[in-house]
This record gives sequence, structure tokens and C-alpha cells, in this order.
Amino acid sequence: MSGSLSTGSIPSAADVAAVPRPARSAAAIAAEIQSLEFRFGIDSDHVRIRAAELADEARAAGEHPLYLWARLLEANMRRRSGELAPAAAICSEVNAWAQQHRHRPLLARSHQQLSIVHDNLGDIAAGLEHAVRAVEALDDDTSPRARGAILLRLADVLASGGSIEAARTRYGHAEQVGITAADVDLHRVVLNNLAYAEHLAGDHERAWTAIQRLRTVTEAAGGTLSADALDTMAMIQIGRGRFAEAARIALTNVEAYEISGADDADGLAEYLLTLAIAQRHLGDTGAAQRSLDRCTALCRERELAGVGVRGLQEQAELHAACGDTGRAFTVYKQFHEAERTLHSQQRDAQARARHAVFETAEARREAERFREQARRDPLTGLPNRRYVDETLPGLLAAAPATVALLDLDHFKRVNDICSHEIGDRVLVVLADLLTAAARSWPSGFAARLGGEEFLLVLPGCGTAEALPVLERLRLSVQDHPWQPLTGNLPVTVSVGATGSGPGDTQRRILGAADKLLYEAKRSGRNRCAVDALVPGGHDRPGEP
Ligand code: GH3
Ligand code: MG
Ligand code: MG
Repeated sequence: MSGSLSTGSIPSAADVAAVPRPARSAAAIAAEIQSLEFRFGIDSDHVRIRAAELADEARAAGEHPLYLWARLLEANMRRRSGELAPAAAICSEVNAWAQQHRHRPLLARSHQQLSIVHDNLGDIAAGLEHAVRAVEALDDDTSPRARGAILLRLADVLASGGSIEAARTRYGHAEQVGITAADVDLHRVVLNNLAYAEHLAGDHERAWTAIQRLRTVTEAAGGTLSADALDTMAMIQIGRGRFAEAARIALTNVEAYEISGADDADGLAEYLLTLAIAQRHLGDTGAAQRSLDRCTALCRERELAGVGVRGLQEQAELHAACGDTGRAFTVYKQFHEAERTLHSQQRDAQARARHAVFETAEARREAERFREQARRDPLTGLPNRRYVDETLPGLLAAAPATVALLDLDHFKRVNDICSHEIGDRVLVVLADLLTAAARSWPSGFAARLGGEEFLLVLPGCGTAEALPVLERLRLSVQDHPWQPLTGNLPVTVSVGATGSGPGDTQRRILGAADKLLYEAKRSGRNRCAVDALVPGGHDRPGEP
């Protein structure tokens, strides 16, 4: 039986092993990633290696979304070779970035991948949720191949969850995309998965119809059915009671494998098992035992747990068919034990993958905390220079604002006469007074630029309206009860404030405010120097 819902055609190692050329354009990198993703049945090792190289190339080119796209491709290949936990971690990392940046192509692809991961882990509900989100993220720019693959994912997970009716509708949508785009590979995979889903749902006649259509489409394109599709076909024939036909197909598959000398041991073990089942149904228990022995040996040699367990089940059936109920019972117990072990291994894998997803989320929160910390001044808790540099240009572009620079007067004296520590505490109190002033104006904010130099920004506020705010602030510093901290030393502040106009830059605004601050200092300190008083660009919010 075909063990996977995603099987298909056209493995071609030659066209994925291209040597990286130096400094290609982003478009060239993107084109190569696109040519490798959503290729059905391709050799995952080759693509994985190439995907890692493409990720490096994209990173070197500073193309972050392309880098993530290549990583997603790599994750897909790792998942296909059984590395579920690292695949899950990469997918959820890309998904988080895509959500944060509303990047639809990466959103669609990462949700699609997460859907497969959760489906593989047996968490159908999560698999379905991600599949639905992937479909939601499709847009007019999505290529037909990607659109078809994502619709197919939704169909597959619906089928996994036993909703065969809903799955049929989505297989129909995906098939339509394949037909419209004349994408034969997509069309074939859809029909293959539909046949397999119908077979699992126990509807052998519908499964048969689907596999016949697959054969028609394949032959019209000048191709032949893949070994996996033939294996599904044999299983369907067993379901329909056509055992001789099933045995014939399964034997063809095994022989074709032996001729081609392919290295897909997983596949050969499956085909041998299908053959054994068909032969048992035909009453040829001797041949069935020989096929099964080959299958069992292969499973031991290659540690193929899944097929191995089903092989034990078939062995019990075979003993029973030979009338040896004693051995049938013994092997049946072994089968149950092996199945339990397999399930607990799957649960462990599930736990590891969940942990990987959790760790990614945790790392993200940690990065967020770090980001936040990097934008705060540790002494006063105010936003710092970095925050200002990131925020102010946008604010100035959005609306006129009053920007004020503040500097403590004769602050050296506080440090010299009291202590540096007292100086620090003065800075903390000043930060609180500034915060209160900022809060008195909607979306106003204060920052510490460095040393004893502070900034107050009042968005949507003309200098005429800002002046009373600044004066109140100046007086709140002057009148603060500093005595317990600085004794007889007064603490005052000088302010230079200017209003921004359309198209103003941060550099010009801070330069102008600095000149005014110097004016305030020169003309005696403890005062506000404000440039030409202009009314605000907006009515003051919250007031009639
Ligand atoms: P002016 O009125 O001309 O501004 O005089 P001033 O003494 O305040 O002169 P200036 O602005 O040049 O001096 C700034 C002083 O602030 C010098 C430096 O020791 C002190 N300072 C800067 N950062 C800190 C800090 O984090 N803590 C403390 N305690 N002092 C600081
Ligand atoms: Mg200073
Ligand atoms: Mg000073």
C-alpha cells in the first residue's frame, strides 16, 4: 500500500544540482526556489542541499524573504526524510515572520507546511487549521502550481480527518487548477491522492474511477503510472476483490524495482507487502510467505518500522490462512506489541516537534524582550536614542509636531557637590516629570537622548500650544522638592523647542532645537526658547 498521500512523478536530480554562481539577482534566486518547491516526488536529499545553498545565497544578498523561502523548502525536504522536529521549528519561525510582516506568499507556504507537519503528527485539528489559513493567504499573484498544492493540502487533511465529502470538493478545486493551467504533474498528484483517500475511506469503486482517470491523464501526457500509483491501484483491486489483477500489478511493481535498481527500500517493502496480501487472497500461501519474508528482511535491514508492523499483521493473517491458529495468535500478539511501540515512538516524535515549535515561540518572545530592552534607557526607563531614531522620522512625516530638547542647568555641580549617585537620582526624578508632561498631550512621548539631555515630542501640536506645556514642565522641575536629594542646590532645566513643517527631517529639527536650547542657556538658563509661535496642524484631540 502507498504509505503517503503525496506521491507522484518526475524526480530529476540533474536539474537541481546546479552549481551556485556568484552574486545572482534576487529574481534569479527566486526563480530557482520556485522551480524546486511543490515538485512532486522529487529526490529530497538533492533539493535539501540545494535549498541550504540558496538560503545562504539569499542571505548574502540581503534578501530576507527569499532566505526564509529557501529555508521553508529545506524544512519540507527534512520533513520528508523524517526530521520532523527541525522541520517544525523552521516552519513556525517562517510563519511567525510572515504573520508579523503580512507576507502573503510566505504565509501561505508556511501554513501549508505546518499543516503537513501536524497531519504527520496525528494532530488533524491543527493540520486543518493551518491548511485553511494557507488557503486564506492565497491571492491573485499565487502561481497555479502553488495554489493547486495548497488546495490539495486542504483536501488531504480533510481526508485524513475522515471528512471525505468535504475532501472530494477540494480535490475537485485542486484538479480544476491543474486542468486550467495545463499542469499535468499537479493534475496527476491530485488524482493519485484522491484515489488513495477514497481507498482509505473504503469506497473502492470511487477509488477505482479516480485511478482510471489518473491513468488516462498520465498516458495522454505520454507517461506511465508511478510505482506508488500502481501500488495504490493494486490495493484498490484487493478492496474490489480482484485479487489476480492486484497480484499482477504488485508483481510488475516489484520486478520494475529490481530492474531499475532504485534505492527506495521503503517503496519496495510496500510493494512486497501488497503482493503478499494479494497472493494470500488468491490462496497461494507459499508465494505469499516468500513475498512477506522478503518484505520482513528488508524492514529489519532498513529499520522500516511502519511497514514492519503491517508486515507482522499480514504474517498473522497468513498463519491463520494456513490453518495454524496457534502461530497466528502468537504473531498477532507481537503485532500488537510492535504497534504499541510504534505509537509511543510517534508520540515521542510528536512531543519533540511540539517542543521545537514551543522553543521557537519562546525564542521569539525573548527576541522581542531584547528588542524592547535595546530601545530603553536602563537608568530612567525612558525610550532611548535608538527608539527616537526609529520613531521620530515617521512621526514627522505623518503630522507637524513640536520637538523640545531639554538639558539640566549646571548639572556638573550636582555631581561634584553631591555625588554622581545623587546625580543619577535627579535624572530619574526628571524623567518622571517629563513623562507626566508627555502624558498631558495625546500621543506625546519623552526620551533620554544621552547624558542629561532629554527630548519631548508633542505630535500634532503647534509651538503656540506647546509653550504652556513646556512652561508647566519647566516650573514642575524648578518647584520640585529637591531638598532631600540636593540640599540647597537648585535643579532647573533649559528648553529649546521648535515646530516641524511638512517634509521636515529629524536632523534639521534636532539641529534647530539645539540652537534654541543654546539660546535658553545663554540668556540665563531655567527658561524655554521656542521658535516662531505657530498654531498646531490639528485641533487638539479630545477637546471641542
Ligand atoms: P549647562 O547648564 O551648561 O548644561 O551646565 P552643565 O553642568 O549641565 O554642563 P553639561 O551639560 O556640559 O554637563 C553635563 C554633565 O552631566 C556632565 C556629566 O558628568 C553629567 N552626566 C552625564 N550623564 C550622566 C549620568 O548618567 N549620571 C550623572 N550623574 N551625570 C551625568
Ligand atoms: Mg548637557
Ligand atoms: Mg547641562
